[in-house]
Amino acid sequence: MAGLSAFAKAHPRRAEASLKEAVILREAIYTLFLSEDACQPYPHQAFEIVHDIATRARARQVLSKAEDGFRWLLPLKDPSDLVALFAVSAVELITGRNGRRLIRQCKGDNCGWLFLDTSKSGRRLWCSEATCGTHARVKRF
Ligand SMILES: [Zn+2]
Repeated sequence: MAGLSAFAKAHPRRAEASLKEAVILREAIYTLFLSEDACQPYPHQAFEIVHDIATRARARQVLSKAEDGFRWLLPLKDPSDLVALFAVSAVELITGRNGRRLIRQCKGDNCGWLFLDTSKSGRRLWCSEATCGTHARVKRF
């Protein structure tokens, strides 16, 4: 990430703005997926933040040749592009799951991490069996 560091030194205001937007986006994505874990509708404000940043990014994507065909890529020219890429990825998680709820919040004590539940049953409880899962089983025992 030396490129980002150099960019931040050369353009401190744009870097600061991107950092603020990244924090806002992070909180919005977390809010969306916590709602999803609780089987609640997405809060409007959080959805709008993710939607707006992803929409801006989609307009700048270019169709590029990849090993297995073509892909939409977002050229990364400054830190705001990186923020936009996270918004696009969050939207892809929302739209690319065939109606299945994939995002869950870990049920481990003092954890709170979100994870992709790709288990066959779709009922995974912990971010990691090795950490939170083991702690929960030891506590129960
Ligand atoms: Zn956990």
